[in-house]
Amino acid sequence: MRTYSGPFLREEGFVQAEITIEDRADNVSPKLVDFEESGDSGREAIIIPTLFNSHVHTGDSIIDAPPSGNIAELVGPGGYKHQILESVDGDDLVSAMRCYLKDLLRLGIRDVIDFREGGLKGIEYIRKATEGICDKFNLNIFARPTGLNYDEDEMEKILSMTDGIGISAFRDWDVDQLKNIAEDANKNNIPFALHCSEDVREPIDDVLELGVHHLVHMIEATQEDLVACASENIPIVVCPRSNQFFGKEPNIPEMMNAGITVCLGTDNAMLAYPNMLREMETAYRISVSRGGIEPLDILMMATWNPRKALNPTSLIGEQSNNHYLILEKGKREPAYEVVTKISAKDIIEVVEW
Ligand SMILES: [Zn+2]
Repeated sequence: MRTYSGPFLREEGFVQAEITIEDRADNVSPKLVDFEESGDSGREAIIIPTLFNSHVHTGDSIIDAPPSGNIAELVGPGGYKHQILESVDGDDLVSAMRCYLKDLLRLGIRDVIDFREGGLKGIEYIRKATEGICDKFNLNIFARPTGLNYDEDEMEKILSMTDGIGISAFRDWDVDQLKNIAEDANKNNIPFALHCSEDVREPIDDVLELGVHHLVHMIEATQEDLVACASENIPIVVCPRSNQFFGKEPNIPEMMNAGITVCLGTDNAMLAYPNMLREMETAYRISVSRGGIEPLDILMMATWNPRKALNPTSLIGEQSNNHYLILEKGKREPAYEVVTKISAKDIIEVVEW
């Protein structure tokens, strides 16, 4: 048994608390057995929910470092990444994905939404990559058809094996084909999500008409587009480090002012290491000149916002809403400390409540 005390992040914000931890069998997270609000006699620490990475593409972990290029050349349909994914050996891909997933765990992440390329084959790969480690986190597969066309049989099979549908970009598709996919997903209560307005502005009314669970990016969205999303309670996932790779930045304060629930993700494995601590810092830094965001709001984008707004249910692994990170505590205000200073080496341990 050991105790920690310090700021503890609840849904409403930080409270002072003292917690008692008990070890369990090897390979099982220690258990939080006692929570006492306002206690302060344990080892000083900051305690927050484990990090939620709301958007990754695990597949590109096979690529060490990308060449230079724009969005279409590197990650668009038929671009560099897709050419590599089509040519690599399946076993090599699975082992690269497995390393990437282990990195996620090491970085204090226990919930992930993976936009899965490659149709049924892609689902098979990620399932193989998680064998033996999937009980440690909640990995949500958002798969998509193999090509840019609707095939009823393929969709039926995908829908029986996926947690959600995650489409490349609205403009990559023929609208009628995309409507069929969205309709099938919605009929089966499978969340339908897509990238939107990353490179160019896309027609938000047509996108929302598809019945979307969440949108990714929205960099080129207008204020009216954001208000339209807010009025339908559509969360937006932003990935600022991936956007910076292409000389772009999301306007997060504008999204928040429009009333959007914002979540954070690290996007393509080949563009950004899945480190949510770095992602939070970048989100904070790029927002200062746009009116600024409170560090606590940024921290929520990597913890409670996705738990509440995205709340996907994984077919593999287990729900990890009850896992917490115990972090080294410094002298600064806790949210500012986590967002701007804490690194993976400051994770003392992961506990289950
Ligand atoms: Zn993406």
